[in-house]
Amino acid sequence: MRLLDEITAIRGIGGKTAQIFGRAGIVTVEDLLQYFPRSYEECGPPVPIASLSGTKTAVVCGTLCSEPKVRRAGKIQIVETAIRDESGSLRVSWFNMPYLRNSLQTGQRYILKGKVEANRFGLTLEQPVLYTPDRYAPLVGRLQPVYSLTAGMTLRMVGKAVKEALDSLPELPEYLPERFRRAYQLAEYNYALRTIHFPPDKTELTFARKRLVFDEFFLFILAVRYLRDANKEQPNGCRIRAAKEVEDFLARLPFALTGAQRRAYEEILADLTGPKRMNRLVQGDVGSGKTIVALAALLQMAHNGWQGVLMAPTEVLARQHFETVTGYLRRENLPFHTELLTGAMTAKEKREALERIVSHKADIIVGTHAVIQEKVRFARLGLVITDEQHRFGVRQREILSEKGEESADTSPHVLVMSATPIPRTLAIILYGDLDISVIDEKPANRLPIKNCVIGAGRRKKAYEFIVNEVKSGRQAYVICPMVEDGGRIEGENVRDYAARLAEELPPAIVIGTLHGRMKPAEKTRIMEDFSQGRIQVLVSTTVVEVGVDVPNATVMMVENAERFGLAQLHQLRGRIGRGEHQSYCIFINGSDAEKNRRLEILNRSNDGFAIAAEDLKLRGPGDLFGLRQSGLLDFALGDIYTDAGILREASQAADALLAEDYALEKEEHKPLKRRLMRYREEKLERLSL
Ligand code: ADP
Ligand code: MG
Repeated sequence: MRLLDEITAIRGIGGKTAQIFGRAGIVTVEDLLQYFPRSYEECGPPVPIASLSGTKTAVVCGTLCSEPKVRRAGKIQIVETAIRDESGSLRVSWFNMPYLRNSLQTGQRYILKGKVEANRFGLTLEQPVLYTPDRYAPLVGRLQPVYSLTAGMTLRMVGKAVKEALDSLPELPEYLPERFRRAYQLAEYNYALRTIHFPPDKTELTFARKRLVFDEFFLFILAVRYLRDANKEQPNGCRIRAAKEVEDFLARLPFALTGAQRRAYEEILADLTGPKRMNRLVQGDVGSGKTIVALAALLQMAHNGWQGVLMAPTEVLARQHFETVTGYLRRENLPFHTELLTGAMTAKEKREALERIVSHKADIIVGTHAVIQEKVRFARLGLVITDEQHRFGVRQREILSEKGEESADTSPHVLVMSATPIPRTLAIILYGDLDISVIDEKPANRLPIKNCVIGAGRRKKAYEFIVNEVKSGRQAYVICPMVEDGGRIEGENVRDYAARLAEELPPAIVIGTLHGRMKPAEKTRIMEDFSQGRIQVLVSTTVVEVGVDVPNATVMMVENAERFGLAQLHQLRGRIGRGEHQSYCIFINGSDAEKNRRLEILNRSNDGFAIAAEDLKLRGPGDLFGLRQSGLLDFALGDIYTDAGILREASQAADALLAEDYALEKEEHKPLKRRLMRYREEKLERLSL
């Protein structure tokens, strides 16, 4: 078996299982091995049933004392039985595993590990993992890997497949030069890979993890350095002269730019008019006003006869930017044409848009990924802006900057915008190929958002509050973690929630729903209705997370807030407090833990940088079990905040390596070179920053 074989090469994995894994993005043996555990659970010794109380994970050992029965609840099949030990008995249930009825044996001793839930029947052990005492004994005290699961996957399935793969693969080549391993105390690769999946204890896990995090950062940094060197010192082929009209435009805005916005704009303008091509990141917290800075840059280009692109990661945001841009142009009577280009448009609409782009009827093009597709040809592309860069891959940025070369023989300026709060020192490492402008100031007219964290028990009060806000003309978001009933996965879902909410709120209040599984046209309609005030309360998933701007919305209520990463919650909160009205953020803590320390951080601060720093303090470097900072920085294992030390080491190592053997031509660097080439092909594209 080889790393790049499909997983059906693994003993015990047939077509059906491969299909299930495929849905989680696992196609090759390598994908599987890189499917690192999300966290680990310690297997404790069983506890007496009588000692159990409500809602927590527990291990019990006893005899199955009731014939398993299958019950249906809607689409879900539930297997129910009970287990008894010397101290008492406990109900047990599994969802959607009807085959257990035949494999479970009444009278047999089992060890069950699962979550105890209190409901109207008393305590129930839900969805426990099942062991025979013989199989459990050697596990006590060990760390069990917990993987992210998609439909059809089980922990055991993943664990077994990984073990089988590790056992039958030949030794994998160690591609890190020995001297780096020694200098930074990095474990050997094969050992690290096995240990991250099956750690004997925490010390070894920490050691293994460090190696793999280092690899991840090291490969990334190397790839970005090469990218930078390829871009560096490129002459400015779309050099412009500052158009005075843009100053006039800015002067006529209903607000004055903040000092930070002005600075960022001037740095951009210096690039556009200077001798070298722009490669710049604008970093600014949610609500700091990045869009207008982008628009000013687009207008500068347009006045100089160049086309510009503004690319957004979602349909909803692209459309909103389109409206914003056309709105400004119309109001100011500017002679430029803005074109929208998204995947959801009909073939005919697209064809016509493409025609206007290639013929230079369109000056400003706003769109989603559709903009970087091959078919799109520009007449004279001079500037490419990506908004919410962390949602795009590094490679996508590259593709766009290559677009210009087809028309003019020069690449366009590149501007990327991000709200990810990364300290400058880390940003320089991560965005090594970019210059950085920071917008570290918010518009002055804003009232700070008022926050609160409450338990689900006080939800009714929150509804009353929302009703009052709506009565005074404002609007509200309610965010749920899921689209529909997740079966065994608990948490509020948009569909059921909206139906329940309709019963709770006065009938005059219009409630809308929004989620990623809707058709694009429907999403657009809902978003439009919300932004026009025809919908007052929008129950949504995190599709509204990035960039959405409805200044009249003043309430953000997040259900199961404990489920989200801090950065993500901060982004969600960024949807409110965007206008003159006082805004309120309500985090519902749906977990049993009374106080959630992470949510308390958000409760205390509205500043993205401060939140990231506090969170870091809370978790500490090398925290193995903490929730990662959402998917914002998309490394599989590494967390740029808690692993900042490793990030710096990897950066040092990359510098040393490139200084010594830039082209990686030395014999000892050959394996690394091969690894890096594969990485650039496969990973860089998917990795977003
Ligand atoms: P973000 O940085 O999150 O992308 P936006 O560009 O969407 O922020 O701006 C948020 C809101 O603030 C918008 O409604 C915008 O019109 C407004 N805004 C931008 N700059 C200023 C300013 N200097 N003063 C007042 N309001 C501003
Ligand atoms: Mg924005």
